[in-house]
Amino acid sequence: VDKNSQRLTIAIQKSGRLSKESISLLQACGFKFSLHEARLLAHSSNQPVDLLRVRDDDIPGLVMDGVVDLGLVGENVLEEVRLERKATQLACEVQRLRALDFGQCRLSIAVPKEEAYNGIQDLDGKRIATTYPYLLQNYLQQRGVAANNAILTGSVEVAPRAGLADAVCDLVSTGATLEANGLVEKEVIFRSQAQLIQRPEPLSAAKQAIIDQLLPRIDGVQMARE
Ligand code: ATP
Ligand code: ZN
Repeated sequence: VDKNSQRLTIAIQKSGRLSKESISLLQACGFKFSLHEARLLAHSSNQPVDLLRVRDDDIPGLVMDGVVDLGLVGENVLEEVRLERKATQLACEVQRLRALDFGQCRLSIAVPKEEAYNGIQDLDGKRIATTYPYLLQNYLQQRGVAANNAILTGSVEVAPRAGLADAVCDLVSTGATLEANGLVEKEVIFRSQAQLIQRPEPLSAAKQAIIDQLLPRIDGVQMARE
């Protein structure tokens, strides 16, 4: 990515729960793209705009570092990366432009259904499997609970049965995955939806003009959906 490019660069999730709605929102706002499955970069054919298609976990850092101008990402990932980068003294500022009306989910702590649970204190000294160690530690610390994070990058929900952890802290939307794994949701630690974020430093007038045109269109699209 050329940082000095006059084309506005927008990072979106390449493939996953945010991809389709990210693309359809941008298309509804008037940007035309033809996407090729294998390609990282997609140029708009009617605007000086490029899409960069990456893993959602990479989006906040790319925006915070100013490698891309805008990003569409879940607040859960945004906040986790912000806490991680703050702790490691990396740039962690972004401008939040809009909350988007998709990607709703919550990050929750769940325990095996056969375990008694009388409150967060019961987790003291326990192992909790998660891919969100910073959000989880932040929540536990504020409540004076010293649990151990077992950091897993996937299959968090099977960790208790596999004997890897006593509880999980994972994303939930319907709860069906928890239920299927014999887990019961006990604490909601973070509620999330997708966000449009912008790099912290001011943009060129040409790029800013595109954003000034984009934001009211997003508002219009979202209003029409309500
Ligand atoms: P990637 O390969 O890009 O890292 P991923 O597996 O981390 O993908 P997805 O499962 O596609 O991510 O979820 C992307 C985002 O979608 C989540 O971080 C969250 O913000 C949102 N989301 C919405 N509903 C759910 C859900 N039911 N379960 C998980 N994530 C959800
Ligand atoms: Zn991810």
